[in-house]
Amino acid sequence: MSKMQIFETHAHYDDEAFDADRESLLGSMNENGIGKIVNACASIESLDDTAHLMEKYPFIYGAFGIHPDDADKVTEEVLDKIRRCCDLEKAVAVGEIGLDYYWHKEDEEHRIQKEIFCAQMEIAREKKMPFMVHSREAAQDTLDIVKEYIKGGMYGGIIHCFSYGKEMAREYLNMGLYLGVGGVVTFKNARKLKEVVEYAPLEQIVLETDSPYLSPEPNRGKRNSSLNLKFVAAEIGRIKGVEAEQVIAVTAENAERLLLGRK
Ligand SMILES: [Zn+2]
Repeated sequence: MSKMQIFETHAHYDDEAFDADRESLLGSMNENGIGKIVNACASIESLDDTAHLMEKYPFIYGAFGIHPDDADKVTEEVLDKIRRCCDLEKAVAVGEIGLDYYWHKEDEEHRIQKEIFCAQMEIAREKKMPFMVHSREAAQDTLDIVKEYIKGGMYGGIIHCFSYGKEMAREYLNMGLYLGVGGVVTFKNARKLKEVVEYAPLEQIVLETDSPYLSPEPNRGKRNSSLNLKFVAAEIGRIKGVEAEQVIAVTAENAERLLLGRK
């Protein structure tokens, strides 16, 4: 069997942090064991940027949606544009969408975020696509919304950059969802996430970086890229008592099943 390549489920290569060396960096992925990458949209501009990256690189796929930080900028036109992007051949998910109460504390901001999150969950349902959720300091509201949608029927999804505890993880795992695990798991003080990784079945974990953010040890604080996923796989393997190779293989199968299984 040939060596399994890493499936990176969440990065932002349209970010300006990659402007200086995007081509050479992305050109080096396959030879360094990164088989496939999902570029996740955040801003409205990133919808077009992600579509372009997808066109240019055969191994890049797209998640289309607007991050809660920009929820107040989402109009009906933007939602229509997301719908059109989701019809592109290599679109694999609606994301990243969700709630962020860390940066946004006002009730009115929360109301708008919830409304836009739900509107994009509707698109995922309508397109029969997985969703990719961002949730920070918004544990209960996120769970309530996701549960409600799952009850009504959804294709599946990923809770990206999972940051809550075991109890919350159990809720999502019981719904058949996947947890996105990245660089944070390598941090010494990430006790809660290490516990979650120990608890969660490997069959429901996917690898992600959130590049350019959240670079793992030993590169913490530097610009992140998918090339660092080997450190994440090694730490997950250490926690679960399996080889990094197995982590890479199983998480890649998970991502293939969820994100490319419809195709
Ligand atoms: Zn992200």
